[in-house]
Amino acid sequence: MRTLDDIEVKNKTVLLRVDLNEPVNRETGELTNIHRIRQSIKTIKELTDKQAKVVILTHQGSDIEYKNFYSTKSHAKVLSQLLNKEITYIPDIIGPYALNTIQNMKPGEAVILENVRYLSEEQTLFEKSLKLTHAQQTKTILVQTLSKLADIYVNDAFSAAHRDQPSLCAFPYLLPSAIGRQFEQEIKEINSLIFAKSKNTVFVLGGAKIDDALDIIGHILENDICNTVLTGGLVGNLLLIAKGYNIGEQSRALLEKRGFMRRLDEIKAIVEKYKNAILTPIDLACVREGKRVTHSIDKCSDALYVDIGEETVKQYDAVIQNADSVFVNGPMGIFEETLSEYGTKAIWESLSNTKAHTIIGGGDSLTATAKYNLETKMDYLCTGGGALIQYLSGKKLPVIKALEEGEKNDI
Ligand code: ADP
Ligand code: MG
Repeated sequence: MRTLDDIEVKNKTVLLRVDLNEPVNRETGELTNIHRIRQSIKTIKELTDKQAKVVILTHQGSDIEYKNFYSTKSHAKVLSQLLNKEITYIPDIIGPYALNTIQNMKPGEAVILENVRYLSEEQTLFEKSLKLTHAQQTKTILVQTLSKLADIYVNDAFSAAHRDQPSLCAFPYLLPSAIGRQFEQEIKEINSLIFAKSKNTVFVLGGAKIDDALDIIGHILENDICNTVLTGGLVGNLLLIAKGYNIGEQSRALLEKRGFMRRLDEIKAIVEKYKNAILTPIDLACVREGKRVTHSIDKCSDALYVDIGEETVKQYDAVIQNADSVFVNGPMGIFEETLSEYGTKAIWESLSNTKAHTIIGGGDSLTATAKYNLETKMDYLCTGGGALIQYLSGKKLPVIKALEEGEKNDI
């Protein structure tokens, strides 16, 4: 894919698709985190410094998962503060106000259009039920209208690269396109893991998204991407069951309730095939009468196991200290609560001490990193959630496919 090094943007109108989707306090309209906005600054600054006319497009909120649809007005304010330059908020996307503004922009200026998901064709429900091809997406009114006003399309939205939506996938077929600096860095970081085959690469997979973890485990071990997988959280619990351990009816029932037991046969085959590479906890902690209690995995009681135990931490710490790079997705336990945060806190501290290159991905994993004040101690914090998982599972992301195919069509 082309980067900003490969395109001339001076005096050109650049349509810049970013992902500034942030958590919002609906009462006050304030954004409660601005990590993604911060990460988008380098591309916006480079484009305006190079005297492009920059039209920023983002979504905020999702029609299915989060119900946090919100205007981009707050984003404009934060962007202006961070860039120390006015980024004008346009309360319009494809209407006369937006078009008129874009046509009258001067080089070096930047505006942000209204939340692109206010258009139905940008919504996930639309994507999932209609499954438009990229060719069909180029016919949508958003793409038809804005492609006529822009000279260049830049996509800097790696974290939305698993979405198959017009603002993300259609423009590369109509305009010369490139990825932005954030997208470039994210891919570079992840590729440094995937292609460093001679190194000792460790994956730490925990949390509650078991389907994602299994997709990743299968791909990275099958393709020799990683030497050791350390497991914790619900992922670890499920793998223990697959190995034949009895970790109590309550723990089993929770996994059953979340629908994960249906994959048990497949998981059994994976843990058997890679028994040397996949480590599972050797002890687990539960909470009993307001106290943390740890049991070795062959002596589990009928409790709900909410964290990895102290012996597991010691074993995992040694692996992490010996690694060349470590990728982490998912906490080791319910770190939100005091009695079950030990495992996550200790493993995160181990990550902050190792000489290995450490990459953290996933919303809750980033929250844990912030909770333990370790943000500056890790080497890279990924902005991508779903996109990152799909990339690590070896799936082609729709946005990458569009950018690569679009490149072939360019003049
Ligand atoms: P990420 O957002 O980093 O990708 P996930 O969303 O997969 O991580 O998982 C995070 C959630 O998993 C947290 O809310 C945490 O409380 C929960 N969790 C971790 N371990 C357990 C456990 N043993 N039992 C129940 N929930 C767990
Ligand atoms: Mg999460």
